[in-house]
Amino acid sequence: MITSTAFAGKRYAILGLARSGAAAAEALLASGARLTVWDRQDVAREPFEGRCDIADPLAIDLTGFDGLIVSPGVPLNTHPIRPHAEQFGVPIIGDIELFALARPELLPHKVVGITGTNGKSTSVALVHHILQMSGLPSVLGGNIGEAIMAQAPLAPNDQGEGVYVLELSSYQIDLTNSLDCDVAALTNITPDHLDRYDGFAAYAASKARLFEIQSAANLAVFGSLAEPVGAIFETERARRPAGRAVAADLDALRELQPQWPSLQGPHNLENVAVAIAIVEELGVKPAQWQHALPRFRSLPHRMERVCEEHGVLFINDSKATNTASAAPALAAFPPIEGRPRVHWIVGGLAKEDGLGDCGEHLGNVAAVYTVGEAGPRFAELLEGAVPTVERCELVSEAVRRARDAAQAGDVVLFSPACASFDQFRDYEKRGEHFRQLVGVIAESGVDCSADPSIGSDRV
Ligand code: ADP
Repeated sequence: MITSTAFAGKRYAILGLARSGAAAAEALLASGARLTVWDRQDVAREPFEGRCDIADPLAIDLTGFDGLIVSPGVPLNTHPIRPHAEQFGVPIIGDIELFALARPELLPHKVVGITGTNGKSTSVALVHHILQMSGLPSVLGGNIGEAIMAQAPLAPNDQGEGVYVLELSSYQIDLTNSLDCDVAALTNITPDHLDRYDGFAAYAASKARLFEIQSAANLAVFGSLAEPVGAIFETERARRPAGRAVAADLDALRELQPQWPSLQGPHNLENVAVAIAIVEELGVKPAQWQHALPRFRSLPHRMERVCEEHGVLFINDSKATNTASAAPALAAFPPIEGRPRVHWIVGGLAKEDGLGDCGEHLGNVAAVYTVGEAGPRFAELLEGAVPTVERCELVSEAVRRARDAAQAGDVVLFSPACASFDQFRDYEKRGEHFRQLVGVIAESGVDCSADPSIGSDRV
């Protein structure tokens, strides 16, 4: 756990005791702070009974509090907690801000922060993987895995300074004022989460703040320069010394990409380019990242190669919850000898109307199997645009039909372009369901073992 004397004797309120809120509470208690905590679920409150005051911050006088920590899941644009805290002049912060405040007492280290609409998790996992394989100690946290305040701080290491690699959602950036990343990166920005912001410009501005709160001498890395990222890049370039705001160089990497089985598709080229700009800044040499990349395994549910059956590849991309993230998955499998080969399972709870960027890659699609609430709408949009559209509703039905239709060389791609909540608890459950369905197929004697080209040796 990360603790600091900076919190000793301070008074904080915490709203939301899920993963990051509970970790913040434990870290603050261990640091000697006084807490008032709240979660609407009693099971979440229970571990804190007798150790903190339990009360809803919305219902109490916040005079004298040093901060109110809210979970990134609380919609601050509509929630009454914001005006309530403002009335008492209490800053609203999150666990990333606590980490930033605790930094001065950690051993000398570097911090990498990555944000973007898509590609955050893949890029942070890549940076962590390359650092570890290069012998540099690193801790992965933020919007991925265990909450950062719950993690063991980096220990002394003779390989040099360790690195905290943070995935940062825009909600987490909204809740920090002093995280000064040694390297900050933005993969891309496309419309998403618009229920939480006052329009697309406000969502983009939230991501841009990661750079505004960073020292100008530190490095800023940009993935896709499509607007509005291009404008943020120009602003940062103007306010920094030469070479301290850089665009990731995709072209230099293109010919190496075939060597990275788990990093296919144009989006992954972008993620790799971002990751390389970051690790090189941290002292990693080209020979080291070139050794690490072929050994990277995809994260679960992101272009995850589940198995190959009779030459048909099954890919779980359940994390593709919008059209901007499903589009590069479609783009990753171009036709062979003029024959389109993607059997695309699409649908769920739509976040937008239309096909978005997916429309540009329909030439790769052999057949579409629509599922979920948005299924009929996708069928309407796609009929006539691709050779076959089958209305399935259930993922199990879609997998069955896709498997029957696919030929050797084809890809059954589960990249729903929608949220999962119409039929599943979250995208993870949805992906596990797909994996299980494919696993059932695999029991008929097909090798579903992991990619043999992937090892774990270090360089
Ligand atoms: P995030 O953590 O930002 O949600 P992930 O790395 O988990 O990003 O990927 C989420 C989805 O977006 C996956 O379907 C993945 O294939 C797709 N994706 C990954 N990187 C990119 C990118 N650079 N551009 C567009 N889509 C991407």
